[in-house]
Amino acid sequence: MKFLVSTHVQEFRSVLGDDTSHVCFCQHHSGLSSQINGRDVIDVWICEGGEVTEALMDQWLDRNWNSPKTLLVNDAKFIPNLENLSKGRVAEIQAISKEEQRASSWVISTLRKGEMLYARACARGPVQHNGVTLDHDTKKTVLIVGAGIMNLVTAEFLAIRGFQVRIVDAGPDPRTCKDWTLLGATHAGGNARMFSYTEADNYNERGSDIYHNMRHIFRKTTLNGGWSVKSPLSFSAAEEAWVNAFEQVPIWLAQAMKEDIYYVNREAGKLWTEYMDRAPQLFEGVSLHTDILRLYAEETALAAAYELSRDLGVVVQDLSQAELLKENTGFSAAARFNDLAGGLIVQGFTLGIHSFVNKLIDRILELGGEFSWNCPVQRIRHNASGEVTSLESQLGALQADNFVISTGVARNGLLDGTASENLLQGVLGVWLKIPNLDPMLRNSTKIHRRGYLVEDINVTVSKDVKTGEDILILGGGYGYVGLDWPSLESPELQALFKELEEVALTYFPAGYQRAKERGTLWLDGERKFCIRPFTCTGLGIFEDIPTATGGHLIITGGNNTGGFAQAPAIARAVCRAMVGEHDPIHVLFNPHRSKLVDQKARDFRFVSSL
Ligand SMILES: Cc1cc2nc3c(=O)[nH]c(=O)nc-3n(C[C@H](O)[C@H](O)[C@H](O)COP(=O)(O)OP(=O)(O)OC[C@H]3O[C@@H](n4cnc5c(N)ncnc54)[C@H](O)[C@@H]3O)c2cc1C
Repeated sequence: MKFLVSTHVQEFRSVLGDDTSHVCFCQHHSGLSSQINGRDVIDVWICEGGEVTEALMDQWLDRNWNSPKTLLVNDAKFIPNLENLSKGRVAEIQAISKEEQRASSWVISTLRKGEMLYARACARGPVQHNGVTLDHDTKKTVLIVGAGIMNLVTAEFLAIRGFQVRIVDAGPDPRTCKDWTLLGATHAGGNARMFSYTEADNYNERGSDIYHNMRHIFRKTTLNGGWSVKSPLSFSAAEEAWVNAFEQVPIWLAQAMKEDIYYVNREAGKLWTEYMDRAPQLFEGVSLHTDILRLYAEETALAAAYELSRDLGVVVQDLSQAELLKENTGFSAAARFNDLAGGLIVQGFTLGIHSFVNKLIDRILELGGEFSWNCPVQRIRHNASGEVTSLESQLGALQADNFVISTGVARNGLLDGTASENLLQGVLGVWLKIPNLDPMLRNSTKIHRRGYLVEDINVTVSKDVKTGEDILILGGGYGYVGLDWPSLESPELQALFKELEEVALTYFPAGYQRAKERGTLWLDGERKFCIRPFTCTGLGIFEDIPTATGGHLIITGGNNTGGFAQAPAIARAVCRAMVGEHDPIHVLFNPHRSKLVDQKARDFRFVSSL
């Protein structure tokens, strides 16, 4: 995505400072032609208005003519003329109002507005059907690829709205599978997930008091204080491109994207509440616990987190270190080692995800849905107009009125040729389990320790499904795996397990000792991890491609640390797309927003001493 600025150039330059990789400037309008015909295609042009001639407009629109372009105009009186020159080829032409320009942050808000117009145009583009429309009165079939949390919630939402759903998954039935390495992020790892209003987040917001020095975090291994379990020297071209794009997200855009991610978290929060009212049986017997205790090792991060949670309106109680210790004497070791500055209780909940999805599968079956396991889908088939005709799978061609694909980390080329290609890569986290001993932890807890190897840890209050014992399930850590499956023996991965053990020892010494003595620290005796699908922006993916019969093929996923948390918001966005209704997620998670760098135009080899 590239901006051209040919108005208020000095002001844009001074506000952006060094953060200009997505913006080119043209102070003297005689240079416009060479800017427009330069290496990068201009997607958003912020202009005065009068400098845009017919020839310049044609040159600009001829470059990548089928990708949407948007114009922001400083002087509104030029808009009628620009509309004439564009002959309907510019997706959006809008003025920057004089009131907007009076605000001190108008440069940033103008860039954000331009980027959002571009995202809106991208989201609108692909859903034009070639005149064929589906009859909305008859029962429609939806073929759903991937049976992780994202698609299971979507399948249930669709089924209760009258769609006939069939779910196919490359892996085995998770309810009976004994080999966790065959399972996706949802079914592998610990039987625990959390909803909080910051569960999905943006991790490359520079200047954050909660996450520090994030820019090159994926180029450093966990042993060197980074978030990768893979040496940067072994990155494939696709991985190099993903990490490069992460590093290139400008500060102003990362901040905008963070707000978008939190918006989706908030919408999901409302939908989870509605879901619990609509289908209470799904939430019974799944270790549901409400309100989350957030603990911070550091004062600065605690203060920033308090401010953030207060702005989001989710603080239930603020707790000093003394109050925490009074409530739970078990935290005294953490306080002694300077690992406990204080905490707060915020709105949210946790549950046993494996128990929950087992119930969800049964419910989808009751609603008439079907499942096919061990059936990898290999390719999306198109006709000459680019419309989807079927999916290619081991069972042969799969056909339906609509399709939804949410396959976690995209490894097998299924998304090749879509806008989502190469956007979904893996960042793993690790798990362990200890008994919840006296003094028992009452609230599921989130521990943040800035700069540690395992930076964020979710501690879920639960019951062991087999023995009924009160337990705590600890899950966390970040290990970029790109498109690979990591070796369990790798020192980088082992370091994450070791550090998670240290967290258990520091905050829950009694439970940790008991688990060590009994040899029950690891889940089913194994060091288990699971791999979250991540995008380089932290935004999820929502791509809508027309089918030849007037239906939709929708690709979702990549919701980073909040795939469970955001699932109902994504499910609603899918349902709305199927019936032609708008949902903000169609724009906010449009994959073009995460395609920040023109991958073909760049040399990704990165020479670094990091
Ligand atoms: C340690 C850890 C803790 C976490 N805690 C939380 C939390 O507390 N809250 C939260 O919101 N999120 C949490 N997450 C993230 C969350 O678990 C994931 O975001 C979520 O499970 C992803 O679900 P999904 O449906 O997108 O993908 P997956 O669960 O990976 O499902 C994808 C499915 O697609 C199938 N598939 C893949 N390719 C194909 C193909 N070609 N054909 C057919 N099927 C295919 C796979 O077999 C798989 O079943 C955590 C993650 C980790 C690692």
